[in-house]
Order: sequence, then structure tokens, then C-alpha cells
Amino acid sequence: MFDKILIANRGEIALRVLRACKELGIPSVAVHSTADADAMHVRLADESVCIGPPPARDSYLNVPALLAACEITGADAVHPGYGFLSENARFAEILAEHGIGFIGPKAEHIRLMGDKIEAKRTAKKLGIPVVPGSEGGVTSDVEAFKIGREIGYPVLVKAAAGGGGRGMKVAYTEQDMSMALSTARSEAKAAFGDDAVYLEKYLQKPRHIEIQILGDGRGDAIHLGERDCSLQRRHQKVLEESPSPALNTEQRNKIGEVCAKAMREMKYLGAGTIEFLYEDGEFYFIEMNTRIQVEHPVTEMITDIDLVLEQIRVAAGGDLPCKQEDLNFYGHAIECRVNAENPFNFRPSPGKILHYHPPGGLGVRVDSAAYQGYTIPPYYDSMVGKLIVHGKTRQECLMRLKRALDEFVIDGVETTLPLFRTLVRNQDIIDGNYSIHWLEQFLAQGG
Ligand code: ADP
Repeated sequence: MFDKILIANRGEIALRVLRACKELGIPSVAVHSTADADAMHVRLADESVCIGPPPARDSYLNVPALLAACEITGADAVHPGYGFLSENARFAEILAEHGIGFIGPKAEHIRLMGDKIEAKRTAKKLGIPVVPGSEGGVTSDVEAFKIGREIGYPVLVKAAAGGGGRGMKVAYTEQDMSMALSTARSEAKAAFGDDAVYLEKYLQKPRHIEIQILGDGRGDAIHLGERDCSLQRRHQKVLEESPSPALNTEQRNKIGEVCAKAMREMKYLGAGTIEFLYEDGEFYFIEMNTRIQVEHPVTEMITDIDLVLEQIRVAAGGDLPCKQEDLNFYGHAIECRVNAENPFNFRPSPGKILHYHPPGGLGVRVDSAAYQGYTIPPYYDSMVGKLIVHGKTRQECLMRLKRALDEFVIDGVETTLPLFRTLVRNQDIIDGNYSIHWLEQFLAQGG
């Protein structure tokens, strides 16, 4: 096992990792920018190191400063959390060159899955169903027209280097194709410095369903079921739940086993998520995330497996927590991402939290680094915390979520709590009847 873990992150995920370290009895090191000197992860860690000024590129993305922090404190492993350096293959390699463990997948797998064209090719080869589309990048309009005719319109043009929903354009008919190609190319060039694009059939009303997997890096892997993340705004997830209201046990086991088998073949190490669009009973791979995800707690609540703790164990060469056949799913869990934003126009609302009172009681979990008197800095993402609720059934979970949302007090900044209070009372949400477009349509109609 590791002697000391440095947590290269901030906010609730830094706290989350810290909790796993404490339970394992491993000393932890927090790092922080000057803007985060008063942050909760700094207060609760065994040691802390300031790694630079507020902008992330000078602090949380500053590799030399992180290496120096490991050196000074004697940390022999780094947990990257999500975002920042979590999917940076080069960072994992640099750590290895310095004899420091990276709590995450092998660098080659991070790199492979970071290239969306390569990821899709690999997924297909491993027997994972993919969205019909071009075999790789498309270089000419002629080639694009040919593929468009084969797969049928509408067609989605996607940036190979894409992320965060940028560099995507829909061509509804052949007439739109040239325009969609050139716009997607120039957007991709501007955002990622790479204008490579590929084509996919544009699915009209899919759900976003993802499978959580965990591998030991030596050829054993399990799946921990799915999360339904269809409630999105601008391709950003807002609420997640598990199990998905759209799947039955047989479908879950089938797609889960396809993913676990692929990960065994790859000898994948650590936690990962295989993301699909799901429409009319079919799954279509879109990408794989090689890190712990924001929404991992919903899986923890229904499996009783601590994913972050298991990430640390397998990174240190340990075994998986259980065999697939011994893994059971209990009840239902829903997560709400509470952001410091205006609940209906989503303008960020940083500032001081004057009153903070998180909800409690049976089946209620709040993962947050906020506290009364804390000032949310303007430099980073706007998430204040995650409210995760568990119940024996989806109905019980919703009932509990409703009262937990009503109990939650965050004053001084605007938050998205009022949006969630509206959502849990909406009939489509109560029925589990929503696609990836539902929330935007709901908001466009004035909420
Ligand atoms: P990014 O890496 O930019 O997040 P993804 O490939 O994960 O890109 O896609 C982000 C979102 O875009 C998906 O969750 C879905 O809402 C939408 N999307 C992606 N591919 C398709 C497709 N083929 N058809 C319809 N919607 C899609």
C-alpha cells in the first residue's frame, strides 16, 4: 500500500479522496492555490502545500509544482480526482518517471481513450456497440457525402479532439453537410488546435446511459451497473440516477458484461466509465472516461462499494472488491449537482455563503466542501456540492429527495436548488420519462 497520497485537486472531490485515505489509514497531502488557502480539503488533510496563484494553469495544472509538493512531503502516489490532470497521460508518465504512483489507469489507456476516433475503433474491436458512422476521420466533402448516404440523415459532425460538447454540428440533409463540416472543423481548430472530424448518425431522442467499470490491470474487471445521465444542459449533466428507469435487469446485465469483458481483454486498471447513447433498445458507444466521475456516488449508494477506496487499492496492486456474481444492486439513488448559479439562466454566482445547512436523515448524503462563511472563488467550476439520496425504490428515493431539497439551505449566493425542487415535482421526471433533450426543452418553455 502507498505511504502517503497527494490529492491533486480541490473542492468536494479532494474531500472525497481524503475520506478514502483516512479510512485506509494513509496520510494525505492537500495542495491548493492561494485562492483556496481556507478551503475545507486543506483544513482536513494531514499536510498541505501551496502550489501557486489562483489560475488553474499556474496551480492545479502546474506539474513541476505538484512534483515538488510530492518531493517535499514524501508522497509516493497522486490521486488526480476528476478534471484538471486526471486524463493527462503525460502527467501519469512523468509521475512514473519520478517513481510516484498515479491512482488511475495505465497511461497508454488514458491516451487511447482521449482520442475519440481511436477510442471508437478500439471499442468496436472489443465488441462494444458503436454509433454507425465513418471508420475514422473524414478528410474530404466527397467522402462525407458518401458516408452520409450510407448511414442516412441527420448526421452529426464531431471533433476528434472534442470535449465538453464543443465542435459538434448536425447536418439535417445533404445540403447542410458542407457547411456543418467547415463549421465543425474551424470550431475544433480554434478550441483544440486540431481540425480532425468524424461522422456519426445523429440519434434523435436518445438517453445517456453509462456503465461503471473497475479493473485490476491484470485482466480481471467487473461492472457496477449503469447511471442514467440524460438530464443535461448544454451537454453538462445536471441530475443522475441509478438504475436507469429505461432498463431492465436483463439489459443491464447484458451491456454490463459486454463492457466488463472488454476491460478484461484490455487489462484495464482502475475505475472507468463507458458512455453510451441508448435509443429503441440499442446501445451506441460515444466515449470512455478514464477517471472517477462526478456522479460516481449514485453507483456507490446502490452497490455499497467505495469506488475511490477501490481505485486506491487496485492502483497499489490489490484485488477487486468482489466477483461479478457476488455484486448486488440495492434500491435506487439520485444525485443533484448543486451549482452556485442562477437556477434558470445559469449565470455563475460566486461569493460568500452566509448560511449553510445541509439536509440529513436516512438515505441522504451530501458531498460538498462548502461551509458557513466559505467564499466560493470565481476561478473554478461552480459546483457547491452534490446531494445524493437513496431509497428502496425509485418512488421512495424521489420522496426523500423532495424533502432533502426542501431542507437544504444555502444563502448568500444563488444556487440551482430551486430548479431541482421544480424538477422533482414534474410528472415526466416522476415517471422517468426523459431524453437528453428534455431539460433544455423544459427550460426553453420557462421551466
Ligand atoms: P464530449 O466529449 O464533447 O462530451 P460526447 O461524444 O461525450 O462529447 O457527446 C456529448 C453529448 O453530445 C452526448 O451526451 C449527447 O448529448 C450528444 N451526442 C453525442 N453524440 C451524439 C449522436 N451521435 N447523436 C445524438 N447526440 C449525440
